[in-house]
Amino acid sequence: MHMISESYPTWLEIDLGAIQNNIHQIQKITNGPVMAVVKANGYGHGLLQVGRAAEAAGVPWLGVARLEEALDLRRGGVKCHILVMGYTMPERIPEVLASKVTLTVYDQVIASDYAAQARFFNQRLPVHVKVDSGMGRLGFFPEDGVESIRRLNEEEGLSIDGIFTHLACSDEPDEPSTNWQLERFQGLLEGLDTVGLKPALVHAANSAGAIYFPKARYDIVRCGIAIYGMDPSMHAPLPDGFRKALTWKSHIVSIKYLPKGRGVGYNYKYVTQDEERIGVVAGGYADGLRRRLGNFALVHGKRVNMVGGMCMDQCMVQLDQFPEAKVGDEVVFIGRQGDEEITPEALASDWGSNNYEVVSGLAGRLPRLYIR
Ligand SMILES: *Cc1c(COP(=O)(O)O)cnc(C)c1O
Repeated sequence: MHMISESYPTWLEIDLGAIQNNIHQIQKITNGPVMAVVKANGYGHGLLQVGRAAEAAGVPWLGVARLEEALDLRRGGVKCHILVMGYTMPERIPEVLASKVTLTVYDQVIASDYAAQARFFNQRLPVHVKVDSGMGRLGFFPEDGVESIRRLNEEEGLSIDGIFTHLACSDEPDEPSTNWQLERFQGLLEGLDTVGLKPALVHAANSAGAIYFPKARYDIVRCGIAIYGMDPSMHAPLPDGFRKALTWKSHIVSIKYLPKGRGVGYNYKYVTQDEERIGVVAGGYADGLRRRLGNFALVHGKRVNMVGGMCMDQCMVQLDQFPEAKVGDEVVFIGRQGDEEITPEALASDWGSNNYEVVSGLAGRLPRLYIR
């Protein structure tokens, strides 16, 4: 009987040293501080471990999408500033105040609710104001920005510590709309400065903005994808010096010979042409693979095709070209093995997606092993 020596059928290996290196690379490029964006379970890399590693690398701020993520970071002992960039319900303000988290305001009515809650507790809620300079999503328009911020300032109970905007097309550096967005944002900042209402901390750049648009850097850059070592897009690759942090590994858990004409997996999406050597590998669509044909993995440093339909927890590979393969052998879904590599970018291109979606789709149930 073959034994599998590692502890898990399938797992992720995350190189926290690579993430810290990538943060330092961004600091060097921008010559300023980084807000490490750790939403969506740290882009699949693990919220708390990435948050702690980023804090240890010296970032003054972490960025998340939801309050739950911020509270998990606090419960895990993270002490640096945390900005919640999405919507938070006013009834959560007591928890927000207790956990010293900064919220985003993009709407006068919600802001008034926040302020009323904070006044009830005799406190001031720290907030950053979101400006919609052209993303078409959350935020006050720059045209109304001075008036909006004047009204927010009149709300006792709010402390307006920052102002920011988000770039829609910074990962297409030739696209002129980024400069248009930045001009609109800059215009508002100057207007606020004139009337003495400019908040202390100004930010605009995501990863692509930080690297490709120096004038978007302002006081701090909000970087997600780059700290994990992945390109913001094919048009906006990372410069040299960044390292990918994530590898997704698995094992062959069974091998058998199926006779000619035998269906493999649900709905017989594959039927053997001959007697074929078929391996079963731990990992399925509930882990973050896709329920589609044409997937592949790495075995013995070479590409191996998956056959049959993708299952929830397992997939099958065609091992005729791998006579030496045996149960327990390592399989790689994402990352390097020997001289071959499967990148999140390559998977994204096969899946009609992007690398962000590939890694943020890695299931919470996958064990994450951290190396430094
Ligand atoms: C997710 C997010 C970021 C990080 O974007 P990357 O492209 O991953 O660097 C920055 N700002 C906001 C508002 C975001 O939602």
